[in-house]
Amino acid sequence: MKKGIHPNYNDKAQVTCSCGNVFTVGSVSETLTVDICNKCHPFFTGEMKFVDRQGRVDKFLKKMQAAQQVQQTSKSKKAKADDADAGDSKSYKDILREQQTAMKKAEKANKAELAA
Ligand SMILES: [Zn+2]
Repeated sequence: MKKGIHPNYNDKAQVTCSCGNVFTVGSVSETLTVDICNKCHPFFTGEMKFVDRQGRVDKFLKKMQAAQQVQQTSKSKKAKADDADAGDSKSYKDILREQQTAMKKAEKANKAELAA
């Protein structure tokens, strides 16, 4: 091996897991911290759980809640707007239909007057 270019290999580097498990491995660094190990990984424990790293699950759940709230408020606003429209104004189609029926009635009345 060429001298001065290789890092010092540490046979007993201490690894600390976030679950509290401590074990030793061979490594260049003296201590290592890991988020998950064989004592707490769902594959080895056999139980389902979220592996929450830096609060990402909480962050996601917060985002989801916020999105649902926005959806609900927009839906309720839309429903209110629809109700207001139904109460006050008619659509252009309805107005046109009413005008057409009124004109037809007037025409029939004129024809009846002429015939009489
Ligand atoms: Zn662990």
